[in-house]
Amino acid sequence: MKQEFETVIIGGGAAGLMAAVSAAQRGDSVVVLEANVQLGRKILVSGNGRCNLTNIDGDNVSHFHGSNPRFIGSVLEQLPVNETLALFDDLGVVTKQEKRGRLFPQSDQARSIVDVLEDRVVQLGGQIATQARIEQLDGGDGGYEVRSGDGRLWRGDRVIMASGGISVPKLGADDSGLQLVEKLGHSRTSLYPGLVALNSDNPQVHRMQGLKVWAQVSAPLSSGRVVVDTDDLLFAKYGVSGFTILNLSAVLVDELRRGPVELSVNVLPGHSVEEVSALLKTRWERNPRRSLELSFAGLLSTKLTRPLLEGGGFERESVVQRISKAQRWQLSQLLTDWRIMVTGPRPFEYAEVTIGGVHNGEIDAQTLESYITPGLYLTGEMIDVHGDLGGFNFQWAWSSGWVAGRRLGS
Ligand SMILES: Cc1cc2nc3c(=O)[nH]c(=O)nc-3n(C[C@H](O)[C@H](O)[C@H](O)COP(=O)(O)OP(=O)(O)OC[C@H]3O[C@@H](n4cnc5c(N)ncnc54)[C@H](O)[C@@H]3O)c2cc1C
Repeated sequence: MKQEFETVIIGGGAAGLMAAVSAAQRGDSVVVLEANVQLGRKILVSGNGRCNLTNIDGDNVSHFHGSNPRFIGSVLEQLPVNETLALFDDLGVVTKQEKRGRLFPQSDQARSIVDVLEDRVVQLGGQIATQARIEQLDGGDGGYEVRSGDGRLWRGDRVIMASGGISVPKLGADDSGLQLVEKLGHSRTSLYPGLVALNSDNPQVHRMQGLKVWAQVSAPLSSGRVVVDTDDLLFAKYGVSGFTILNLSAVLVDELRRGPVELSVNVLPGHSVEEVSALLKTRWERNPRRSLELSFAGLLSTKLTRPLLEGGGFERESVVQRISKAQRWQLSQLLTDWRIMVTGPRPFEYAEVTIGGVHNGEIDAQTLESYITPGLYLTGEMIDVHGDLGGFNFQWAWSSGWVAGRRLGS
């Protein structure tokens, strides 16, 4: 039996649920079709189960990447951060701000975000069908027919695609939604893992496996621009991770397609090479008989200094009063400009987002309706837009879902 709705939404994640609220609030009959047993699995695991649902700077286009910044800006300004927060406040979600402007629910539970969105959809008369993996989408201007793998059939005057990206397949993510819109004539970019750890062959890095330090990480881009981030840097058996790396990966993954990239790491962020040299001089004059390794006690972890000193060719047991000025300078350079070559991103299994997606030029930035096939709307991570780490990707999902749901101009 075919069920008929004004708005059929494919995908019950962040963008799909927000689109459902938006469309149902406007009076549309709505159904959300979700492949998984549960709605919003990525929301549930996000922010370590706490859901970093947006960022105080979440409508600033400079935090987003994709082929067309104007397209991104047009969507974000239709549901900016203050209006997103008002919307969540109306749903009962009190938010709190953490470092770098990141906003979390006061409950510290991602579950609450899924629960309140689902509840609002249902209260507004919307329907939800889970275990409905959509495998067929046909139609055009006059409406669409949507069929799930198990043969259930829906008809919609319009369809909102919200099937997300392909990162973390174990959460059910795949390219089935992208394939559906490609069959209707859309095209997409190549896809890459984003907000992801990076591989490195550096043996010093491997030796520091498990260590997390506060560091400034910078990297030159082929455009001449240098990207910089100061936060956690985590060493792993495959390479580097932590907030700095995940965040920089939003732009570095693209750069890595052209070849390895040399990171510059300052393990004493905020200090120049001159300042570090002066700092070491003072410390060494105060305790001249200490070994080089011990001279860092209380300043840097031995888990960091030991491999760093050895890798840099310094004798750990050298007594500091015998170390020359030139060697002190060389060591200060190592501490402020330690070079780590990274070779590529970890695979999609470990990536928070997908870089790339449906070409923005095929979508109306005001409404998110397809230029290729009228009545089809595209939202969220399946579009060629991704944000920095820190709540920006959810902001994109909320804003784009809201815009598509509202059906401007009709
Ligand atoms: C581990 C992890 C942590 C993250 N943490 C954060 C964070 O704290 N802050 C932040 O801003 N971003 C975070 N993200 C990114 C964020 O989760 C995504 O950018 C966001 O969920 C994208 O929303 P979406 O609705 O486009 O896609 P999704 O939320 O992925 O929703 C897509 C939905 O469509 C369904 N679907 C797919 N294909 C079909 C089909 N054929 N038929 C029916 N249903 C289908 C999927 O099952 C899924 O439920 C995180 C991501 C991961 C993986």
